[in-house]
Amino acid sequence: MNYEPQTYAFPDEAMKPFISEDEIWDAIENTSSDTESVRMIIKKSLSKKRLSLKETAILVNATDPELIEEIKQGARQLKENVYGNRIVLFAPLYVGNLCTNNCEYCGFRTSNKDQKRTTLKHDELIEEVKMLEDAGQKRLILVYGEHPKYNPEFIADSVRTVYKVKKGNGEIRRVNINAAPMDIEGFRTVKEAGIGTYQVFQETYHREAYSRYHTSGMKRNYDYRLTALDRAQEAGIDDVGIGALFGLYDWRFEALALVRHVNHFEAVYNVGPHTISFPRIKKASNVELDEQYLVSDEDFTKLVAILRLAVPYTGLILTAREPAHIREEVLKYGVSQIDGGTKIEMKAYSENNEEQDLNSEQFEINDDRSLNEVMDELIDTGYIPSFCTACYRVGRTGEHFMEFSVPGFIKRYCTPNALLTLAEYLEDYAPEKTRINGYKLIEDSLKDYEDERFKTKLVDRLEKVKVGERDLYF
Ligand code: SF4
Repeated sequence: MNYEPQTYAFPDEAMKPFISEDEIWDAIENTSSDTESVRMIIKKSLSKKRLSLKETAILVNATDPELIEEIKQGARQLKENVYGNRIVLFAPLYVGNLCTNNCEYCGFRTSNKDQKRTTLKHDELIEEVKMLEDAGQKRLILVYGEHPKYNPEFIADSVRTVYKVKKGNGEIRRVNINAAPMDIEGFRTVKEAGIGTYQVFQETYHREAYSRYHTSGMKRNYDYRLTALDRAQEAGIDDVGIGALFGLYDWRFEALALVRHVNHFEAVYNVGPHTISFPRIKKASNVELDEQYLVSDEDFTKLVAILRLAVPYTGLILTAREPAHIREEVLKYGVSQIDGGTKIEMKAYSENNEEQDLNSEQFEINDDRSLNEVMDELIDTGYIPSFCTACYRVGRTGEHFMEFSVPGFIKRYCTPNALLTLAEYLEDYAPEKTRINGYKLIEDSLKDYEDERFKTKLVDRLEKVKVGERDLYF
């Protein structure tokens, strides 16, 4: 199907493109990073104020190893202050890999004839979800290629199907979406199905680079994609996820563009995006990677720390694209959500293949540990694994504001809810060693509660989980 790019008329001011390449390059090229300004900016961020483009550029331009270490320590401190020690867990589920686009970096691109095309049938979708529930998952992100078959009704239907699957104590309590941009009506349709976050990644915010990688298909339209989540907001979806694919263009430019995208949402909708993703480009079926803009591990860990400091209250997501050692490191600097037990081939959870098949997945993953192995690592390193979905389900929208703006929100809601979902996992899915270490972590966490009355309520609910009650939260 040949797609003629329409001239996209922007309904109103709010939806006019908001990325100025000159402004971003001016910030990068005309700011220097001396010790005093870097320390002042870290201090500002630790007072939980979001950074400006120029302030972010000063951190990006820092090259002195000691200053970079200070940036990382600042991010670490801010993460502890805002997010405590909980890490939210989810799993991706690929529903279909048909696609009409031809993104040069993607294994699903339409011109890749070696890709095995699959769309999960109704019962196959149910089977995948049962496998995920059996592993202990409670939060999923459904992923779709960009194809007319995956229209709003199809996506809404698959979301409803996922929520209906219950196996033992297993259930999926939050379904996020990563799919094509839609019009406002389309977003309303998927909203009505009860989705959590809608993610659309701009891939690269640099127009020329964007047109180089997106040569055909619906995705050629930079502006239609850039304003997708504005239409989502207009449709009432206030949990949106932005992202860039690092390795397509200069990482410094993309980092500032992400900050500008956050600014835009706050200015127009008074709420930042729910999450930011910053995947690095990875091996994919029949893809020749252009190495010019590949991001080194050193710059990548710095990037995560800078994003943490720049947007204190936007969730940072890191997926299994990255190997375990990188994930372990950047967890310290601000990542608040990770996937665990990830498989991204089509029908992967029920087929459970040992080896990855690039011709059945979008890109190669580099962390294929089971959910329980990821849980063990988190518990052993003092993080509370969380499957919490409370805010979304009790309508505490814009929760990052609350979390950030209402002192004690973490202690009052996020940490106890994390402990309750951890206890559920320990009772229903954990092997003995994980169970013992997990309950030790819960005991240690309870010691932090001076408020005896609240602690009693929390302990009471933990006891109820032990005797079989489920889905208890604050
Ligand atoms: S990145 Fe997305 S839109 Fe592009 S080819 Fe891959 S699946 Fe299709």
